[in-house]
Amino acid sequence: MKPKSRSHDPLKLDMAAFAGDHGELAGDWPLQTLPRLAESAMPEASADAVVHWQARGELRPLPDGTAEVWLQLKADVRLALCCQRCLGPVEETVALDRALRFVADEHQAAALDAELEDDVLSLERALDLRELVEDELLLALPLVPRHADCPQPLPLAGDDEPEEERPNPFAVLAALKGQGGRGTG
Ligand SMILES: [Zn+2]
Repeated sequence: MKPKSRSHDPLKLDMAAFAGDHGELAGDWPLQTLPRLAESAMPEASADAVVHWQARGELRPLPDGTAEVWLQLKADVRLALCCQRCLGPVEETVALDRALRFVADEHQAAALDAELEDDVLSLERALDLRELVEDELLLALPLVPRHADCPQPLPLAGDDEPEEERPNPFAVLAALKGQGGRGTG
């Protein structure tokens, strides 16, 4: 591989130049630097979580001599999510592996996004790759995280509430009737 002519900053990525160089970047980001994703996880159990990511720029030549700008993006993170059944932490690997196409302006991006199955983004002067990875990982989160088998038996509603503290509806009714009786008698 020949040496890259320039270095690329993943937080201020010039996507057109990155693709032109067939640039490659990879690294780790602590979960805490992706605050929206961190919010979706259980804080104590995910404190040490790290997002591993890699990005590759690509120019795909077209017959007319121009080229499409593509980004191959991969990322994964192991998160402790809140089990929707027992509310305990459930470990999930959230991963993405996709190709994103970049076009010159937002109007074109919106039009193509509606028309094609691929994700189409507009070329910005400085793309924040970490924000993009965060967006994509948020979309990849399971809708209803839960254990296949919850480790704790499920608490039954009202189990910890002593029986005698709950008013018995029939006793309440009887008391009202009793009051009425006294009124007339
Ligand atoms: Zn569970």
